[in-house]
Amino acid sequence: MTLSTQAGGAAVRPLGVLAALPQELGDLIAAMQAESGVVTRTFGRRDYHLGTVHGAPCVVTLARVGKVAAAATASALIHAFDVQAIVFTGVAGGVGENVHVGDVVVGETLLQHDMNCEPIFPRHEIPLLGRARFDADRALAQALATAAERFVAEEGAALAAQFGGALPRLASVAPRVHRGLVISGDQFVASAAAVGVLRALLPDALAVEMEGAAIAQVCYEYGVPCAIVRTISDTADEHASASFSSFLTDIAGTYSTGILKRFLASYR
Ligand code: SAH
Repeated sequence: MTLSTQAGGAAVRPLGVLAALPQELGDLIAAMQAESGVVTRTFGRRDYHLGTVHGAPCVVTLARVGKVAAAATASALIHAFDVQAIVFTGVAGGVGENVHVGDVVVGETLLQHDMNCEPIFPRHEIPLLGRARFDADRALAQALATAAERFVAEEGAALAAQFGGALPRLASVAPRVHRGLVISGDQFVASAAAVGVLRALLPDALAVEMEGAAIAQVCYEYGVPCAIVRTISDTADEHASASFSSFLTDIAGTYSTGILKRFLASYR
């Protein structure tokens, strides 16, 4: 079940585009439908949407939530759809000091914060793999950061007008694009105490979510480039659940649409 697309006579392996939840894909599948039509294959209880969007041949799907779901989906993208790279888009909790709701974080390094096989292996190290941190592909991460910066520069005023009521900070301060460490675990982090523990262990962490480092591990093991972009929906504290829910419903899609459109148009 392999998709290859003809471009200039050469077969092009598609890009895998992944999110956990449908709101995190923005208008991507509708844009694919309008541009090339969509072929949908159902496999392992997930729908994989094949087509071309913003000029890039893609397989677009939803992982659902958590590290196992993300790893299984990344593996299927690699083995059943022969993707050349995987890009994950979604929301996350901000844990870095200067990371605010409405900012964007591009993962340059990913780590599973709930992996702990001490004292047999150092904390966070993946047993028998000899490492805790997985790097995103530098060129892909750079392209995602450029797309996010252009999105903020070109649509920041519209974002402030549209969402400044719900998010007063957006009305006065432009969203920032951060790059660095993103941490993943099978927990929705929703207390200042939990954030304090994560910061003490991992002072360079910018954002916490539930999928990115699982995808990065699978991609590392198979030699497939990957990158992760996250919009900050909450700050992983006691307000996280309400902030996450309203951000996901109202705002997440606008960010994903704006960032992916620019990223995919630049992707070659
Ligand atoms: N019941 C919710 C579950 C979402 S869990 C629903 O389906 O609507 C939160 C999702 O957003 C995960 O995919 C995770 O990657 C990301 N996320 C956002 N804020 C987070 C936080 N504070 N802690 C962990 N993950 C977070």
